[in-house]
Formats: sequence, structure tokens, C-alpha cells
Amino acid sequence: MPKRTKIVATLGPATDDPKVIDDLITAGVDVVRINLSHGSHEEHAERAEQLRNRARASGRQVGVLVDLQGPKIRTGQFKDGEVNLEIGASFTIDIDYPIDEGNIDIVGCTYKQLPSDLSRGDTLLINDGKIVLWVEDVNGSKISCKVQVGGPLSDNKGINKQGGGLSAPALTDKDKHDIEFAAKIDADYLAVSFVQSADDIEMARALLQEQGGSAAIVAKIERAEALDVIESIIDATDIIMVARGDLGVEIGDAELPAAQKMLIRKTRERNKVVITATQMMESMIENPIPTRAEVFDVANAVLDGTDAVMLSGESAVGKYPAKAVEAMGRVCYEAEKQSIARKSDHRLHTHFGRVDEAIAMAAMYTGNHLNVAAIAALTESGSTALWMSRISSGIPIFAMSEIVATRRRVTLYRGVYPISFHPLESDSQRINQEVVDELLRRGAVRDGDLVIITKGDFQGLEGGTNVMKIVRVGEHVLPD
Ligand code: PEP
Repeated sequence: MPKRTKIVATLGPATDDPKVIDDLITAGVDVVRINLSHGSHEEHAERAEQLRNRARASGRQVGVLVDLQGPKIRTGQFKDGEVNLEIGASFTIDIDYPIDEGNIDIVGCTYKQLPSDLSRGDTLLINDGKIVLWVEDVNGSKISCKVQVGGPLSDNKGINKQGGGLSAPALTDKDKHDIEFAAKIDADYLAVSFVQSADDIEMARALLQEQGGSAAIVAKIERAEALDVIESIIDATDIIMVARGDLGVEIGDAELPAAQKMLIRKTRERNKVVITATQMMESMIENPIPTRAEVFDVANAVLDGTDAVMLSGESAVGKYPAKAVEAMGRVCYEAEKQSIARKSDHRLHTHFGRVDEAIAMAAMYTGNHLNVAAIAALTESGSTALWMSRISSGIPIFAMSEIVATRRRVTLYRGVYPISFHPLESDSQRINQEVVDELLRRGAVRDGDLVIITKGDFQGLEGGTNVMKIVRVGEHVLPD
């Protein structure tokens, strides 16, 4: 079987060649990310279309994730190019200063709220913390700082406040316009950047639905204050992204590993899906193999229980996009062999709220305790497969659905493989046989293997799963 952990790869100039797209698909990419911090709608629409065409041609299901830019707060530009800030020097950020007239003493900023969010003693981290400024004084439009960590500073670099607390709303006007775009290209996932609360998720979902979109929502956790209300954010969203780049700047790099483990654990416990992102194989932007530390990072995320691992610059602008996917897949596959990645005591002592949920749990309990080769979930919305995949296991879960949006959505769920399934018969015994035949045809099972099938008495009914059946491949399949 292929790896269970899913790979998200960001598209960019390095993946524009159709041959590279084919290579990404062959290397095992499951979802592509379109990063709206860069590029035009036209080029992104072309990339999404090209990807879907190539995936269709190779018989694979690949999801499309549209990632909103969000309110990234940035410095203005410098009139004579890059400046070099010296430790101990004074440097001012002024929201009224002309945006493209910066120099070694002062720079503009488009975020007009910045002075009200700051006071003396705060620390500002510029360009992912490469430059550190200590706030000495806030006076009207001017924030006067002392340089604590110096270095080169060029145009439009990100500004974070250590510990969080910048109050820019998560959805900018550009994001609202970009949500229309996400609906138009029928994105499978919509990622909301710099989420502060569950309200941000609800607003994004409402705007998307107004535009006719049905993408699953991804909450990017990259603000310190999101951690204080994380349960309500998880409950409001479909997917959590551990956005380690900005989060690490706000909470500190040393705090990141514990935050990642907490986010993965809480997300899975609450039956939601989690992506671990940023700098997982960063050195592969330049090199054809990852460092040992990167191998450990990916493997540890798998052992933490992440559903997916993500590539950013490695695939979007790197020299080896397909090799990065291939290396990630290889590391995931090996890590998944560890017994900790296959055992689960998740929800052993909880009550189930729904019949379909109880069937999903029963299938996993049975599968993990009986020598079962595969689980086939006949699913409308994909939720049976989602519940199943919250239980760690080595058994492949085949989400068999007629609905293309469902098949694309489950591409992110760990251990779940989508199958396009259009039963020819309505008779339940024959459907069971068709399921087994499909798995045999794909080489997923062999004669004598046990297969668990879950489905509903009434085909085509969302939430209608109420049957679990165990069949032996090669034996006559009896009616339910
Ligand atoms: C991050 O900050 O880790 C992240 C995923 O966000 P982006 O790549 O959009 O900056």
C-alpha cells in the first residue's frame, strides 16, 4: 500500500512545466496548495486546471487548496534598496511615512492600527525574526525602536509582535475577493491565514457559501492568541494547519514542538484533520536530498499523528519539487511502520452521538483486532472515512464514492484512499461483490483476505451508514 500520511505541495513557478506536474503526481502528491500571497488569479486558475487535467489523465485524485494571504503586516519599501540595520541604532516605523520612501532611519507601513497595538517595551520581529526591534516609544503615527538584532532589511518584510497581539482582522478586502476566486475554481479546501477566533472561520465559510463554494475550511494557526481559544477554532473549522513559520515567530521557536504536538492531539481528538507545515524539507530548495534533521522532523510529525505534511518553497520555487515529494513520502512510509503509528486508544471510553459514527468506530475496532486487509467505506459525504481515520491503524480505508467532491476531500485524511465507485446494481449482495471486485482489480486485496464493508441501507443518503459487513475475498458474498 502507498504511504498513509498525505503530502501537500505548494504550486509555483517551479511546477509550471506539465512534466513537473506529472512527476509530482507520480511521486505521490495528494493535495496542491495555491498560495494567494503571490501571483495573479489567471496564473493560479491555469495551474489548478493543469493539475486537475494531469491528475485525471493519470487516474489519481488530487485536491486543490487555496490559501488566502490574510493580514500579513509588512514594512514599506526602501527608496535606495536594501538597508543594513546596526545593533543599537534607532529605527522608526511610521504609518504616515510615504510607503516607498524608506531609508536607514525610517520606513512606512500600511497597517494603520500598528501604533495602537504597541507600547514601550514590546518586541517587534521583522522578516521572520531575522531583525529584532525593541519599542522605545509610541507617539502618534511613529513607533521609535532600538535595533536589538541587526542585519539587512529590504522591501515588504513581515512584522510580528513577540507574544502576539496585533489586532488586524483575519479577512482583508483582498481575501474577500480571493474567496470568490476559490469558489470559481471549485477549490476543495480554503485556508484562512492569521485566524484569531472561531468567528474568522465562520465568516470565511459564510462568504464562501454565498459565492456557491463548498470547500472545506483550513484554519492556519499562526497567531499566539489563537492558541488561547484553540478548542473553539477546531470545532468551527474542518482542518487545522500548524503554520510553523509565523507561529514560531510569535511564540518563539523553542515553544513550537510542544505547540505542534498539542495541536495535532487536540485536532484529532475533536475528529478534525491536521496539516503540519513549513520548512519541513527547506534545504531541498537547493539540494536533491533532505538533511537528517529534516528527515526526523517529517517522521516526528507522522508519529505525532499528523494527517498531512506540507511543502512550501521546496516545491513552489525549489530546484527539486518532485524529489521533495518523493523524499517526504519515503520518510512517511517508514515512520508509519512504527507500532505507535498503528495503535490507538482514541475514544475507547467515549459515547458515540450517531449511528454512522458508531459503525465507523466498530469497523476500526474490529479491523485493528482481526486480521483484516482493507476497510471499504461506501460514503456520500466522506464523514465515515473521517471518523475511521481518527483511529491510528495500519489498515487501508477505501472511501468509495460516486461524488467527486467527496473523493477530493478525503485526499487529506490519513490512511484514506479515494475510489470512484458507481455500483451497477442496487441489490446489496451484488454491491458487496462489486466492492470486493474493485479492490481485487486494484491489487488492494487477495483471495482469502478479510474485508470490512460499511454502507447504508439506502444508497445516496448522507449520514445513512448503518451496516458493517465482514466478507472473505473469494467466498460467495451473502446478502446483508
Ligand atoms: C506559515 O507561516 O507557516 C504558513 C504556512 O504560512 P504562509 O506560508 O502562508 O506564510
